[in-house]
Amino acid sequence: MLNLGREGMASELNPYEMAVKQLEGVAKLIDLEPWILEILKRPKREIIVHLPVRMDNGEVKVFTGYRVHHNDARGPFKGGIRYHPNVTLDEVRALAMWMTWKTAVMDLPYGGAKGGITCNPKEMSQAEIERLTRRYTYAIREFIGTYIDIPAPDVYTNPQTMAWIADTYSVLVGRWEPGVVTAKPVEIGGSEGRTEATGLGVMIAAREAVKKLGLKNVTVAVQGYGNVGYYAAYFAHQWGYKVVAVSDSKGGIYNPEGLDPVRVMEHKKKTGSVVGYPGAKEISNEEILELDVDVLVPAAIEGVITEKNADNVKAKVISEGANGPTTPEADRILFEKVVLVIPDILANAGGVTCSYFEWVQALTRDWWTKEEVLRRLEHKMVKAFEAVYQLHREREVDMRTAAYMIAVSRVAEAIRLRGLWP
Ligand code: NAD
Repeated sequence: MLNLGREGMASELNPYEMAVKQLEGVAKLIDLEPWILEILKRPKREIIVHLPVRMDNGEVKVFTGYRVHHNDARGPFKGGIRYHPNVTLDEVRALAMWMTWKTAVMDLPYGGAKGGITCNPKEMSQAEIERLTRRYTYAIREFIGTYIDIPAPDVYTNPQTMAWIADTYSVLVGRWEPGVVTAKPVEIGGSEGRTEATGLGVMIAAREAVKKLGLKNVTVAVQGYGNVGYYAAYFAHQWGYKVVAVSDSKGGIYNPEGLDPVRVMEHKKKTGSVVGYPGAKEISNEEILELDVDVLVPAAIEGVITEKNADNVKAKVISEGANGPTTPEADRILFEKVVLVIPDILANAGGVTCSYFEWVQALTRDWWTKEEVLRRLEHKMVKAFEAVYQLHREREVDMRTAAYMIAVSRVAEAIRLRGLWP
């Protein structure tokens, strides 16, 4: 069985080398022509910008920013922008390539891109972050646009950051361009349903897996109780699954009779953690991964399921809310144990899918209700899951490999059909 690794995972290789290795593995499985592989191994374009920004104390600091365009054979580039001290060109390259596969596996009419600025937003004021964001937007203005490249938030960027990008870009082009970024605040053209989208998508994927495996009286454990983990637990509970355990960075709680996710969130808001929730037993973040449940949702950080604990995992389905929670070694062990792992590029693609809906609404100036958005999300998730599941069965590969095979094949077909010019 070929094992492909994934987004954001810790490894000896740097993230870009790992992404290329993954791609080479898939290329063999789908008999990809060498010339297409050579194109896909490299980004189409890499933009590096140096950004002088006046800080609150009057000094000027120069930051380095990146925007990497991996591929746009299927449509405009799409991908987030992260603000983090560890941002490097190789990380942004890898993330851009993974976005190409994520949009392709969801069959969205987009390519893949990623951006980042090496900075520490925790040590900056809002005014400094705003000036940095506007300077970055100015510097990359020729390379973004509604039909060119549509950024979105990532680590330490948010709807406010997107509002500043949309405003700066719109001032430069002389008209309001809500289609230039997604995950904007709802008041200025953001989409209803974006908050719930990723967690809901994670759970829809899990539910489809549960149906395939014919599981009854489904029990669920969720690691991480932020945006993704909370909504995954919330929808699981709504559908009658028993959410028996959840956790956050301070630890976890377990009650075999089931937890009420809304009440747990109220407790977390009051006390700062899920820990201490009345009537539940405290467990660790390691224990939650090894509970005897049907569905496990890692929705916190990368690299939590490894060769050290994979053998102890008792869940039958893992739906990857986080990016890269499972290492390649763990993937191999889980495949042998017949655990169905729904890979991040599929399981957590509800966010980018909702971003696509936001973009369509911006183009048409026709705003949908939350029900409409979530109904369409359901349709897209189920369709993508089904395609990946079928290929997984046909080719006897794990779900991750199947997802990559579909994604790379779709991008390759677009390149073949469009051909080379000039
Ligand atoms: P978030 O910051 O809202 O929540 C993260 C949660 O994880 C918090 O509850 C935090 O306490 C917990 N956590 C942090 N470190 C932990 C640890 N060591 N052990 C256990 N819990 C820990 O973030 P989010 O938006 O929910 O994102 C979670 C993951 O999902 C990330 O990997 C992110 O990249 C991925 N993701 C998010 C989206 C989205 O739309 N929000 C989309 C795709 C992927």
